[in-house]
Amino acid sequence: MDYNYQMKIINGMAVQPNTDVRVDCPFCFHKNTFTLKNIDGKIMWNCFYAMCDAKGKIEKEMSPEQLKNFLNSKELSLQNKMKSENKIKWNVPEYFTSVHSINVP
Ligand SMILES: [Zn+2]
Repeated sequence: MDYNYQMKIINGMAVQPNTDVRVDCPFCFHKNTFTLKNIDGKIMWNCFYAMCDAKGKIEKEMSPEQLKNFLNSKELSLQNKMKSENKIKWNVPEYFTSVHSINVP
């Protein structure tokens, strides 16, 4: 299989950072035979279907800008994680009122 064609398809799939998925193969169209990873800017793919030779790797050299974005995305995911953990926590209200003391001075 033409490697440039594979790269074109993979690039067209807009693989999100830190992805590790198993999907239908975009080359042989078999179900769930295609693994796709984007780990630390390296995109790797492989099809497990015996008759399909889709396999490859794009090692993208990260530009300073990309590196910055990469670090920011790590930072963001950490912030989001903390945010979602905060949701579980009970926030102490600023003041308490008794349900039995309504309109009682
Ligand atoms: Zn395939």
